[in-house]
Amino acid sequence: MTHDAIVVAAGPAGLAAAITMAQAGLRVLLLEKAAVTGGTANRGMGPLGIESRHTRARLLPPTRDEAFKAYMDFTHWRVDARLVREFLNRSGETIHWLESLGVEFVEPATYFTGSFQTWHLVKPEQGPPGPGGAATMMRVLTRRAVELGVELRLQTPVNALIREGGRVVGVHAVDAQGAPIDARAAAVVLATGGFGDSPEMVREHAGFELGRDMHPFRTPGVRGDGLRMAWAVGAARTEMLMELVYGMPDNLSVPMPLHEACRQPHLMVNLLGERFIDESVMPNVTFTGNAIAQQKQRCAFLIFDADILAAMARDFDFRNRVFPVTRIDDADALIDRFVATGYRHFFVADTLADLAAQTGIEAAALSATVAQYNADCARGYDTLFNKPQHYLRPLRRPRFFAARHFPSAYGSAGGLRINHRAEVLDDAWRAIEGLYAAGTDACSIYGDSYPFLFPGTSMGFALNTGRIAGEQIASRHKEATA
Ligand SMILES: Cc1cc2nc3c(=O)[nH]c(=O)nc-3n(C[C@H](O)[C@H](O)[C@H](O)COP(=O)(O)OP(=O)(O)OC[C@H]3O[C@@H](n4cnc5c(N)ncnc54)[C@H](O)[C@@H]3O)c2cc1C
Repeated sequence: MTHDAIVVAAGPAGLAAAITMAQAGLRVLLLEKAAVTGGTANRGMGPLGIESRHTRARLLPPTRDEAFKAYMDFTHWRVDARLVREFLNRSGETIHWLESLGVEFVEPATYFTGSFQTWHLVKPEQGPPGPGGAATMMRVLTRRAVELGVELRLQTPVNALIREGGRVVGVHAVDAQGAPIDARAAAVVLATGGFGDSPEMVREHAGFELGRDMHPFRTPGVRGDGLRMAWAVGAARTEMLMELVYGMPDNLSVPMPLHEACRQPHLMVNLLGERFIDESVMPNVTFTGNAIAQQKQRCAFLIFDADILAAMARDFDFRNRVFPVTRIDDADALIDRFVATGYRHFFVADTLADLAAQTGIEAAALSATVAQYNADCARGYDTLFNKPQHYLRPLRRPRFFAARHFPSAYGSAGGLRINHRAEVLDDAWRAIEGLYAAGTDACSIYGDSYPFLFPGTSMGFALNTGRIAGEQIASRHKEATA
């Protein structure tokens, strides 16, 4: 097979690259391992856009310059400033490009109070924006790619790059019938979504054990293929992280109102029975995941009592766009039904001592922590962390409830070093001819933590680096064929 370019994987990064090149007239082969396109983005809500027509019309900050400064302050300049600038600067225009292809957005949203309204929620085919809404965008992009002439092959995993004379000239893959394919082209874009579904790579490169101290959203098949293929031809490695958040294991099995009740700013303790976080920070799910990851066995318990549960029947303190519930109705019955399912990470007890026995929290320390916390609630001042007074509610009346939280993650981040042209670099910081990478495989712009200050960053990075790779290859192709 001969094409101008090969794109490995049809998530947002791969589709953006493929469409960009097809729009420039290139013959593009798009090889996807799964039976469907869209990758992890099928579960999300939308990408970041700075200075899009939507944010401009509403006079919403940040400007591109403000965003760049805030972003680099957040990351302490431990990341490639040129790549960050390129990504942020073009992110608004990328929203318009997506619209030109037929994607629709509702108003930009924030993730939590204090983060920017950069999150461009995709308008789904049906219903309001919500989890999985971005699947509509992925279907639109897939349709447009095929209309533009991209040759899309599903269930065709790529397993190696072909390198000749120092440049990448194609890939080895296996087609849907299991037959090997060699495909050749002047350029290859890797966009295989990182390593979040590989227990071995998560252990080796990010230091977590899936199912024990890390309970991420796993996208089947996202197993580090692109990283291994690129490393095999000499690509340099970057720092590799999990895109950390926090949550209860198998969180989608928890009824939504109870799930949200367990993420309100009540008392959070570790296995030692000690507080370790100002619980008002919890809406920043990355910071909370970071804090939990520092605790014994990397877990923590959010504890409340019958009075607090009754208060949550009126209103939650925190609300968000992902799980849009505002209170918990008929809570006792809902909890009893849920506990009867045998779920192992939510606990109910008549005494704090029994709660400690069930959870493994040190009983004497828990009792002392609750006594101190209740005294602080009575005084109206959190002596430990200065949590705002209006969140201070004592734990006194049975039943007592505890939700066990762990670090979770949307996926991984990083592995391949690219420059601001999305070229993959080797250990000598030279671009490997013919090789580009985009999206999660190349996402080393977080520093140590996902920048939730800018919601939509990871899907935005995927789309924008996909476009950058596509434009670079198209412009090289133009020069070569001029
Ligand atoms: C529940 C959830 C919600 C999210 N919500 C948001 C959100 O609202 N906004 C946001 O910015 N981010 C969100 N994210 C993160 C975002 O979806 C990802 O950052 C983004 O999809 C990454 O894009 P990608 O193209 O790099 O990889 P992916 O979307 O992961 O796609 C990778 C693709 O590679 C394919 N593949 C793997 N190996 C091979 C191979 N060897 N050959 C061929 N194909 C291969 C896979 O099958 C897959 O289709 C969310 C993530 C989760 C889990």
